[in-house]
Amino acid sequence: MKQVLAIYPGSFDPVTNGHLDLIERGSKLFDRLVVAVLQNLEKDPLFSVPERVEMLREVTRPWANVEVDVFDGLLVEYARRRKAQALLRGIRAISDYEYELQMAMMNRKMEPNIETVFMMPSVKYSYLSSRLVREVARLHGPLKDLVPPLVEERIRAKVT
Ligand code: ADP
Repeated sequence: MKQVLAIYPGSFDPVTNGHLDLIERGSKLFDRLVVAVLQNLEKDPLFSVPERVEMLREVTRPWANVEVDVFDGLLVEYARRRKAQALLRGIRAISDYEYELQMAMMNRKMEPNIETVFMMPSVKYSYLSSRLVREVARLHGPLKDLVPPLVEERIRAKVT
């Protein structure tokens, strides 16, 4: 039987409850889900890529069909190498749509055999982003219910 492998790419700096909501939904729909951390040169990261990967591995442990990996360069190249059939992306508000649509179309042009699948998180996470979490973290604001407890701990250790 055909096994469907999907890649869920992102920066995950840090992983939030919104990401986890999507990972849970993705793990139910696909046979295997690879959460792939983009190794780019971001201007002002809060966590290093190895730190993000370690937190992701810890918080995705409950899902046996979820794996965490790192990639750089073109996403479609990585997806081809992994023999993935789908890319998973989250749509929160309409504002995400335009950028996501452009990216999905560009990826389809480069690799017509890989489908982008969009999923919506629970409404309670629809205004949550890693960027906001980083901002609140740097201002020592409360992050309860926005990130998993492990991430909250790591943030506390980092920003004090
Ligand atoms: P962010 O946009 O939070 O900085 P990433 O670049 O790590 O996060 O995003 C990776 C993917 O996860 C993107 O498709 C993004 O739309 C999605 N995503 C991020 N936050 C959420 C959320 N709260 N709910 C659903 N999807 C999300």
